[in-house]
Amino acid sequence: MIPLTLGEIASITGGRVVGDPAVTVTGDVEYDTRKIGPGGLFVAFAGEKVDGHHFAAAALAAGAVAVLGTRETEAPGVVVDNPLDALAALARVVVSRLDKLTVVGLTGSSGKTTTKDYIGQLLSRLGPTVAPAGSLNNELGFPYTVLRANEETRFLVLEMGARGIGHIRYLTEIAQPSIGVVLNIGAAHLGEFGSVQGTAQAKGELVEALPPSGVAILNADDPLVAGMAPRTRARVVMVGSSGSLTASDVSLDASGRASYRLTSGAESGRVRLSVVGEHQVANSLAAGAVALAAGMAFEDLVTALGEVGIVSGRRMDVFTRADGVTVIDDSYNANPSSTAAALRSLASMGAGKRTTAVLGYMAELGEHEVSGHAEVGRLAAELGVDRLIAVAVEAGPILDGAAGVAGWRGTGLLAADQAAAIEILQADLRADDVVLVKGSRYRTWDVADRLRSTGG
Ligand code: ATP
Ligand code: MG
Repeated sequence: MIPLTLGEIASITGGRVVGDPAVTVTGDVEYDTRKIGPGGLFVAFAGEKVDGHHFAAAALAAGAVAVLGTRETEAPGVVVDNPLDALAALARVVVSRLDKLTVVGLTGSSGKTTTKDYIGQLLSRLGPTVAPAGSLNNELGFPYTVLRANEETRFLVLEMGARGIGHIRYLTEIAQPSIGVVLNIGAAHLGEFGSVQGTAQAKGELVEALPPSGVAILNADDPLVAGMAPRTRARVVMVGSSGSLTASDVSLDASGRASYRLTSGAESGRVRLSVVGEHQVANSLAAGAVALAAGMAFEDLVTALGEVGIVSGRRMDVFTRADGVTVIDDSYNANPSSTAAALRSLASMGAGKRTTAVLGYMAELGEHEVSGHAEVGRLAAELGVDRLIAVAVEAGPILDGAAGVAGWRGTGLLAADQAAAIEILQADLRADDVVLVKGSRYRTWDVADRLRSTGG
């Protein structure tokens, strides 16, 4: 963060100083004492289970100089009514003071964090970039990320999540992007919007917020995303199989990595991705368009795209165990579209081998809950997955969907919980197995962790 005194923080946030107003925060804002660095500001939230104010002393011991909270602690600090509002206010001021900063915002139903990682790595080649690992896309993670920018920062890459109308607009009012990316509108969080049109309405708030001098990067292959073009004053860059930055001639190697011909106007080059999954083509195109808009030379981009990786964990993280079993840990989160992408990767990587998909319950599908699970099961069977393990009874409709596919010769198994899934897996693992693990949030994390920690 840029250096701010407690006096300034209080005046920005409408708060009250505790202790010496000249105390200066020179480090980053953290709400986890384990991450505090020297000169940092510890934000204390009074949660239902844990009250952050109890950790004020620990934060000081770890190097924090002050605490921002809703009541006084033993530490110097600022007391505010609402720490989230305070962070938003601070973030707004920090951005307004950094005139060399280019803000990049991205949203979509799947692939935000993955693509944010790519963009961060590409832009780092052009100048100091803030794009921390993880999925920091809500009213807490967003200002938290913004506040990591300082006078040195040239690029700030911000993931934006939308759980409803107005959410992204709120985030863009904290930090207005000049480059905006909308990746896709899939079947994530259908329950909250009722329809994909509602999702498109909410996510399109990003392109509405771009200035006329900005750039809106839209997925040409997703009609609801391409349809956002009239909603922006910015220059529109379409990316996809058609548009101004395109991928053609896509092929997948045996390890599930894609290569493709990248073309922008008269320039063209072959990109060989290091990341797994055909869906990374679209993500890398979007990231590439950001890098071009930020000034990267085309030939540098072709090389750089081949080197980007996913730094945020549990996303298409492929490893081979000593016993020969290949695991695709895509357990971070799941919705029908990201599960479809992962199943396709499993099928391509598992050609000629035995494939197993361990699929957990997908949360937040609302009225589409049963059909969403069944759809995923149907696809798994159509792709010829050999073993389908649904974790938890709520994921059962996956098996019903698979069973409905005529000619599927695979096996469907219901595991009551993750421990049961681990048991099923461990009872029968072979060196030529390829195992995909995927679920909503923590619902299959133990399975992935166990596969990682065992196997010789
Ligand atoms: P969240 O809403 O949880 O923040 P996100 O949009 O940040 O999700 P990631 O965390 O990058 O997305 O990825 C979530 C899942 O979606 C992973 O399983 C990932 O492999 C998959 N995924 C990534 N990109 C795409 C894509 N373009 N299409 C479909 N699935 C994708
Ligand atoms: Mg994310």
